[in-house]
Amino acid sequence: MPNQVYRVNFQYFFMKIIDIIRNSKKTIFSFELLPPLKGQKADKLYETIDELIEFQPKYINLTTHRDEIEYRPVENGLLEKKTVRKRPGTVAIAAAIQHKYGIPVVPHIVCGGFTRDETENMLIDLNFLGIKNVLALRGDGLSSEKHFVPEKGGHSHANELVEQIVHLREGKYLDPELKNKAELDFCIGVAGYPEKHAEASNPVTDMQYLKQKVDAGADYIVTQMFFDNQKYYDFVARCRAAGITVPIIPGIKPLALMNQVTMLPKIFSIDIPEEFASEVRKCKTNEEARQVGTEWAITQARDLIANNVPCLHIYTYGITDNTRQIARTIL
Ligand code: FAD
Repeated sequence: MPNQVYRVNFQYFFMKIIDIIRNSKKTIFSFELLPPLKGQKADKLYETIDELIEFQPKYINLTTHRDEIEYRPVENGLLEKKTVRKRPGTVAIAAAIQHKYGIPVVPHIVCGGFTRDETENMLIDLNFLGIKNVLALRGDGLSSEKHFVPEKGGHSHANELVEQIVHLREGKYLDPELKNKAELDFCIGVAGYPEKHAEASNPVTDMQYLKQKVDAGADYIVTQMFFDNQKYYDFVARCRAAGITVPIIPGIKPLALMNQVTMLPKIFSIDIPEEFASEVRKCKTNEEARQVGTEWAITQARDLIANNVPCLHIYTYGITDNTRQIARTIL
């Protein structure tokens, strides 16, 4: 649909996610996209959004991918170390989407690979471009490293990043001698893990660190994907018991490939319920697995909406047919 004309609805353009949630009487819908691979045009990304726009998502998240180190073979059997960023351009793409569709875009800001100065400059750029929302994350370590190693002059954990963004809200920049300091008023989301973050020693310390991010100024939490809603409900109950009062947005990932039944637990440190895993294992093709995954996600989504979650956030990974089927069924 390259020539489709959109009537940009500026009602939401400058809105903060927290205000959209507060002003909404029912569960809203949002989804998450990845920037295109380096060298690819934005067309595919726009096609993905075009396919989902009719379901009136209230906002769109855009992931950020840090530089990676690759070792490439050169002459004489030697290896050359190369720094590559596979999916550059989050700031520009976030602004382009927000301006094209009139929907707030939430770019992810990660600690890994960025100095505090680079982060500050990125936030200034985002503010100039009319972006009012960010998701503050630590990011994962490089695949070549065993653990997350902070950038020299960067942050070690997401709570420090939240603090930096909150300082900018108050007009406090890194350079104390800066004159005429504008306040950059961002709404801040952070990540939460119903099944515990992979590196956390136990759920109790993980919860303490989550509370630290909220106490630092985060406005809401978005969860890691989960396939058993009870894990989300228990997590919300534990958050409330710990004194966390901000909205907790469930993240849903429709399983799309047969091998994800083993890959997702490994990558994200989550469980897949046996009832679901055994259905996926019976599938002979990825198409069959995707249908089973979509139906599971629909059941999850229906139940979450019935329990009045503030927003249903779908991790699309650029796949739209399953997200469309879910949205058509539940919205
Ligand atoms: P933190 O909150 O810093 O937590 C990381 C670990 O350290 C946890 O085990 C926690 O318990 C512990 N911890 C937290 N604070 C402290 C502290 N002050 N001292 C000691 N320990 C502490 N990654 C990307 O690279 N790009 C993305 O776009 C991206 N988007 C995501 C979106 C969502 C909704 C989610 C859930 C994750 C996303 N991730 C992304 C992955 C995320 O970056 C990783 O899960 C990362 O390992 C942790 O990020 P965090 O912000 O939760 O880190």
